[in-house]
Amino acid sequence: MFPSSKELFERAKKVAPGGVHSPVRSFRSVGGDPVFFQSGKGAKLTDVSGKEYIDYCLSFGPLILGHRDEDVQKIVSETAELAWSFGAAEPYSLELAEWIVSKIPWVEKIRFVNSGTEAVMSALRVARAATGRDKILKFDGCYHGHLDALLVKAGSGLAGESSSDSAGIGSELIKNTLVLPLDDEKSVEELFAKEGKNIAALVIEPLPANYGLLIQRKEFLSKIVEIARKHGTLVLFDEVISGFRVGLTGMSGELGIAPDLVTYGKIIGGGFPVGAYAGKAELLDLVAPQGPVYQAGTLSASPFGMRAGLATLKKCEKENVYNVLENRTKSFVSGMVSILRERDPEGDWDSSIHSSLFWFHKKAPSPIRTVDKIPAGHKEGFAKVFHALLSEGIYLAPSGYEVGFLSYAHSDKILSETLEKADFALKKLKV
Ligand SMILES: *Cc1c(COP(=O)(O)O)cnc(C)c1O
Repeated sequence: MFPSSKELFERAKKVAPGGVHSPVRSFRSVGGDPVFFQSGKGAKLTDVSGKEYIDYCLSFGPLILGHRDEDVQKIVSETAELAWSFGAAEPYSLELAEWIVSKIPWVEKIRFVNSGTEAVMSALRVARAATGRDKILKFDGCYHGHLDALLVKAGSGLAGESSSDSAGIGSELIKNTLVLPLDDEKSVEELFAKEGKNIAALVIEPLPANYGLLIQRKEFLSKIVEIARKHGTLVLFDEVISGFRVGLTGMSGELGIAPDLVTYGKIIGGGFPVGAYAGKAELLDLVAPQGPVYQAGTLSASPFGMRAGLATLKKCEKENVYNVLENRTKSFVSGMVSILRERDPEGDWDSSIHSSLFWFHKKAPSPIRTVDKIPAGHKEGFAKVFHALLSEGIYLAPSGYEVGFLSYAHSDKILSETLEKADFALKKLKV
């Protein structure tokens, strides 16, 4: 038996900043102390006191088959008997690379790294090397990991100017990062008219899902890609969250837009730490040892991540997981919204949904495509619902700005169990 979550948190705060190893885990956004979990299986997590939760956070997206899927678990156990790391050439990363290259037309070559952050950082290095330009354009409301150059928000000065979103990032490190709002092709056009020849890459989440779920118009995405191409700027789609989540070819496939460079993470490692950057062969061939762009990793292409990733992706394809998830998510989320509307006395709730990603928010006058359209009081309204659900054993990501996910392990039975529990939990909100 473990000590209680409370006791563990007190101890953790003494040895780790805020008691955690990634900020959202601390529950600061929703208030209260974090739950400490000891294990997970299928759709469920078990905390250190033995209480079970139905998990809709799923490690922030990687666990598309749920915790410890049986088929993947078998591969992982086998891998433990092979080797834990090689730091040398091996066939396992080759198998995953060949499989991905065979499925995704705009991925001709791929390089594996250990996180989404690393993937984006390296892809930008390639873009700068390929174009000989320094500037990067990103969009407000998109998250690309915690690399210095992209940990920025829109500045208050000139259009496109950025200011740092974290202490410790010198102005030198972000002076080449331009930031624009989403959903506004006109501002992109204007910026490119001035700065186009200096912009190495336009980087965007084609399905922005790290600041709520800000579903973009297809016309906006097509237009900005067209503008970038006209100016010789490379298009980097950051599919770390949408890749292998909305379908095997990600949002790029769904939109019918082939990016020059694409980054993956989360699902690609089947629950192990893997990221990847990929794209046209001529771009990836700029990377060492083939080309002059240096990028390396002691533990890159870990056999656990490579084999768990491939097993996960193959199962998603074979069992048509994406269709199943999409249908289940639709009916589950509409069930949740009805309950929220009925039970929350302050609640005119609504949802944004795409494939198996969902986000609950208060009703807005028009679709929420930019950060400034998120209704006021969102954080507080979500925190109340979060804690009510948590007490009944439903675990959402502990922040109103994180999206929720379904996994293949969320059976119809588990989903209706969730709705029943949610109805009971949210009754308590009545004043
Ligand atoms: C999660 C995420 C990242 C960062 O990945 P890490 O593995 O956390 O470094 C980057 N971009 C997007 C779109 C993400 O969702």
